Amino acid sequence: MDDFVHTQPPVRVVFGPGRLDSAPAECAALGMTRVLVIAGGAASAPGDRVEKLLGETAAGRVAEVAQHVPERLAAEACRAADDLHADGLCCVGGGSATGLAKAVAHVSRLPIVAIPTTYAGSEATPIYGITGERKQTGTDDHVRPRTVVYDPELTVGLPRPATAASGFNALAHAVAALTGGSADRLARLHAHEAIRLIRNALPVATSRPDDLDARGELLWAAWLAGSALAATGAGPHHRLCHALGGRFGLVHADIHAALLPHTVALDPDLDLAGLDGALGGDPSRTLRELAAEVGAPRQLPLDGTDWNELAEAVRVAAEATPGHSPNWIRELIETVTTPPGGES
Ligand code: NAD
Repeated sequence: MDDFVHTQPPVRVVFGPGRLDSAPAECAALGMTRVLVIAGGAASAPGDRVEKLLGETAAGRVAEVAQHVPERLAAEACRAADDLHADGLCCVGGGSATGLAKAVAHVSRLPIVAIPTTYAGSEATPIYGITGERKQTGTDDHVRPRTVVYDPELTVGLPRPATAASGFNALAHAVAALTGGSADRLARLHAHEAIRLIRNALPVATSRPDDLDARGELLWAAWLAGSALAATGAGPHHRLCHALGGRFGLVHADIHAALLPHTVALDPDLDLAGLDGALGGDPSRTLRELAAEVGAPRQLPLDGTDWNELAEAVRVAAEATPGHSPNWIRELIETVTTPPGGES
């Protein structure tokens, strides 16, 4: 038996169809009396419901969220929390809403109740990111949501392409945990189970969007994969997604989906033996076949982007992945883009 150390964070997970309605009780259990609700975009309706259920305990609402947490939104949300004397945060939505809550928690130390509506898995990690000129990420235990409420009913409206891409986001977390070489036994257990669940449930959820069992399995997989990521830290694939996403405003989940089959084939430092057969004998091929089956993006929408800018992105990404030569990153990006004139 290997020696290992595992730190288990004190996190509460509340799971089940209709559980959205338990949000006020979960906020109260953390001592919140003035809750700032963070929910926008497609999660506006469940955000409205939480605000209504909270009644007088709702101190206010932040209704604008965006991928990669732009600095302006982070500053505005921090100001709102301050002005409203909020003593807790409740975010409803995908990784963008969770990310904004984390940006506020990083400054204010307020606790978060997270109600995820995608499979991004941010609710399970202490990782936060804010995007100014570049996307900066950091780790802070205070930003990890104290309570996560998973309600599969909230995810049946996630469109097929977003479901597929988001499933690949969770898959990328699990693959990174297993191939990064630092997973302890519990993280490996979490990551293996996440991959098994996603391989079974993603084809079902993308062909039958209102299948609550499949939706639930994917949310659970998102938590498992996020927990595995939290235990091991982001690897080169992940840092590359952040660098490219922040630089070109790409959809985070789409980048994961497009890159993952190629990262596992091209990154020379990944320990593919760590997958222990979870993705069959040829992980890259299994991922490409799954992406085709569920309709996940397989190309980055960078056609027409100035190739010098892409070369600069490769340089930045290489900086973000110390010890990695830019060569495989360049090859990776070239594989999922069509540079103008075919030259770099
Ligand atoms: P997102 O939150 O922006 O959601 C993607 C789109 O789906 C949005 O248009 C949103 O309105 C819509 N949507 C969300 N839930 C829906 C639902 N149930 N039905 C219909 N539409 C729905 O994106 P995401 O992929 O969930 O998260 C990406 C962000 O999270 C990025 O900024 C990424 O960096 C961050 N992230 C952070 C971590 C971490 O550990 N810190 C992990 C994963 C992702």
